[in-house]
Amino acid sequence: MTSNSPTAIRDLTAQEAVALTLLRDGYTQRTIYTRTGVTGEDLFPLAAVHGITAPHGTADGARCHEAADEEPCADCDTALVHADARARARQRRTLTPEARARLLRSRRPTARQ
Ligand SMILES: [Zn+2]
Repeated sequence: MTSNSPTAIRDLTAQEAVALTLLRDGYTQRTIYTRTGVTGEDLFPLAAVHGITAPHGTADGARCHEAADEEPCADCDTALVHADARARARQRRTLTPEARARLLRSRRPTARQ
């Protein structure tokens, strides 16, 4: 490898170009994947390299900040926290009772010093 960056600028495939356009227009990563087959793993670094961001105040916007190596702005940060909470709630509903108990134990605050 001679490149310093794993996501150096290169020509986009047609699908990737469409994916970046959809991202900029506010489509979710899941929709983009369904339409173009471009995964989030490729999408966000590509967006960062090409200076494209999802709308701010969305979880995908927060991922764009991340991919660009920046701190998310307040709006994106809030959106990400909410998305995480939703994902955890979804996960909780599908957990076995044992896994749920384990999760609850792991989140119990540690004893005060
Ligand atoms: Zn933002």
